[in-house]
Amino acid sequence: MAIRHVVLDFDGTCTKVEDVASDYVDACIEMFEREVRAGTRALFLEKLAVVKAASPVMGWEFSIPPLAITYAAPSAPAYADPYIAVGEAVKLVLRALELDIRTPIPDLHTPSNDRAEAPWRDEMIEVLSKLHEKRFTIHFVSNSKTAKIEARLDKLLEGKDALRKAVRVKGEAGKFVVRDAKGLAPEFEAAFFAIPAASDARIADKRPIYLRRGGYFEALADIWGTIAEASETLVCGDIWELDLAMPAHLGAEVHLVERLDPHPTYDYEKAAVKALGKRATFGALRQVLDRI
Ligand SMILES: [Mg+2]
Repeated sequence: MAIRHVVLDFDGTCTKVEDVASDYVDACIEMFEREVRAGTRALFLEKLAVVKAASPVMGWEFSIPPLAITYAAPSAPAYADPYIAVGEAVKLVLRALELDIRTPIPDLHTPSNDRAEAPWRDEMIEVLSKLHEKRFTIHFVSNSKTAKIEARLDKLLEGKDALRKAVRVKGEAGKFVVRDAKGLAPEFEAAFFAIPAASDARIADKRPIYLRRGGYFEALADIWGTIAEASETLVCGDIWELDLAMPAHLGAEVHLVERLDPHPTYDYEKAAVKALGKRATFGALRQVLDRI
């Protein structure tokens, strides 16, 4: 099937998270020490090491103290990137300090992410330009905020008005939320509920991948006129479970962007790509251009 749509993840797929990972962690720890409990750097680093050792079987159970959502279905490896890793480590730190995990703590992520902003990948303008030249629709679908990605794109594509206009952004897609999709046309609803709740394949023979990401599906359904367009879509992401498992199940072509140290791609992610044969590739973002 010919590709018509290209869907890009933002963090780690189009940005060099590996360049800022340690600065981001430092910023989070400094803020935690300043606003929650001083003298906790060593404990924080110890808990990050615990998360690293337990991942990928340990999953991202997104929660924001003090909201009541303290546990959720695991949705990505807990150490897949520094953003997820810090969030999971914080819960272990709070527990070690015998603070309730619903303890109201400030948002560590947003200011730390601003302070340690990950630069765009070097090939970003080239990739977007070629996709546009070849008349693909270009969509960012990300957990990050729409306004943030729009502002980054405005800066990146300054003076390239036609290209900038062609790039659509759907932020806060909540790919990490395992929930049912809502408000869909009947054809899409049937396709969503035909997705198995969990994958047959298990991560390290333990945890399955939970496939029904309702918010992510709704964002994709907004791009597609019919479910058949799933197979005319190339999705690029850097975390198999979060970005690619569900679209691949729906028949999309996928490109897994390689994560580098300190959060390298897991072997099971590479195996999942291999199992899809020609429908999937693995490597640098630039290699997406070989697919089109
Ligand atoms: Mg990502």
